[in-house]
Amino acid sequence: MNLHSLGWTSNLADAVASKSRPGLVPARVSREDRGVYALLSEQGHFQAEVSGKFRHRTSARTDYPAVGDWVVAEPGDAFSCGMIHEILPRRSAFIRRVAGGQSQGQVVAANADIAFLVSGLDREFKPRRIERYLTLAWESGADPVILLNKADLHAQPEKARLQAEAVAPGVAVYLVSAATGDGLRDSLALLGPGRTGVLLGSSGVGKSSIINALIGRKARTTSVVREADGRGRHTTTHRQLMILPTGAILIDTPGLREIQLLADEKSLDRSFGDIDELAASCRFRDCSHNGEPDCAVQDALAEGLLEMERYESWLRQCKEIRFHQREQDVLLRIQEKRRWKTIQKTVREVYRCKGR
Ligand code: GDP
Ligand code: ZN
Repeated sequence: MNLHSLGWTSNLADAVASKSRPGLVPARVSREDRGVYALLSEQGHFQAEVSGKFRHRTSARTDYPAVGDWVVAEPGDAFSCGMIHEILPRRSAFIRRVAGGQSQGQVVAANADIAFLVSGLDREFKPRRIERYLTLAWESGADPVILLNKADLHAQPEKARLQAEAVAPGVAVYLVSAATGDGLRDSLALLGPGRTGVLLGSSGVGKSSIINALIGRKARTTSVVREADGRGRHTTTHRQLMILPTGAILIDTPGLREIQLLADEKSLDRSFGDIDELAASCRFRDCSHNGEPDCAVQDALAEGLLEMERYESWLRQCKEIRFHQREQDVLLRIQEKRRWKTIQKTVREVYRCKGR
C-alpha cells in the first residue's frame, strides 16, 4: 500500500525526516483496542503498542495515538507486537471530553480533512445539536460538511435543508439517504483519493449504513432504531479508519454519546459567525451580550433579527466552554483562588473598618 493512498502529505514527510532510523516506518492508525493499535503502512498492516519510553514521557491522554494518527513504528515479527515510538504532528484532531468528570480529553479521530456531521431526518430536527457539532468541528481543524441522512423518510427534505443552512452559515448541507444511495456520491466526492473524512453524529443517525452503502458490502453492523425514541440499539463496533473504493479515507465513530464541548471561543465565533459579526458593533469590546448597554446582539434580538433559541444556544455553549477552560487550566484555578482570598481579605478589612 502506497503511503499517499493512506493520506500521507509533504508536511508529514518533513516531520518524519528527522526521525527516520533503520527499522522504523511511518504508519497510520486504523483502529485501537485497549492499547493495541492496528497500523497501516507501505509494508502492509501490523499491530503495535506504544513503547515504554513513549509511555514514560506521555501523561496526557490526548498525546497517545488515536485512530487517524500517523506514527513512527517498528513492525513486530511473528512472535511479538510492533512498537510505536512517536506520533507525527496532527493536522486536525476531534477531541471530546471524557465521560466521568475527568477534564482530560480523548482524541476520537485525528488528521481528518473534512468532518461530516450526520443527522437523521427520521427524528425531530435539532438545530441546537448541529450547532454543537459545528463548534467541535471548527475546533478540530477539519472543515465541516452537514449530511442530513434518511432524506427518504422526510416529507419535505428541502425544508430541513434550509433549516440546517440557517444555523450553519457558509457550511455545505447535503440531503442523503443511505437506504437509496441518493446524494451520497455527491457529498463524498468532496473527499478526493487520499483525503480523510470523519463521520460524526449520534448513534442511530445512519453512519454505519452510509459506510456500507459506500463500500458496497456490510463492513459495519447497523443497529435497528427503537421506534419510541429514534435511538439505535447499543452496538459494539469500534472506531475505525476505512479506505473506500474511490480512494477516499473515512473514519467512523460509532457509539459516541452526548458530546461535551472541549473548544475555545474562536471555534464558537466560527459556528456563530452572525453573533460574532454583530459583536463588532457592541459598545464594549469585551461585551458578553448578556445585559450590557448598547449591545448589538441584544438589539438584534429585540428587532427579531436574531432568533432567541440560537442566542440561548450560543450562550449555553459559551458558558460550557468557559467552564471547561477554567476546570482545565490549573493555573487559572490557582489564580482564581488567590483572587478570592484577596477579595475575602478586602471584604473582612472593610467590615473591620466599619465595625470600629
Ligand atoms: P449509526 O448508529 O449512526 O451507525 O446508525 P446505523 O447505520 O446503525 O442506522 C440506524 C438505523 O437507521 C438502521 O436501522 C438503518 O437501517 C436505518 N437507516 C440508516 N440510514 C437510513 C436511510 O437513509 N434511510 C432509512 N430509511 N433508514 C436508514
Ligand atoms: Zn454585546
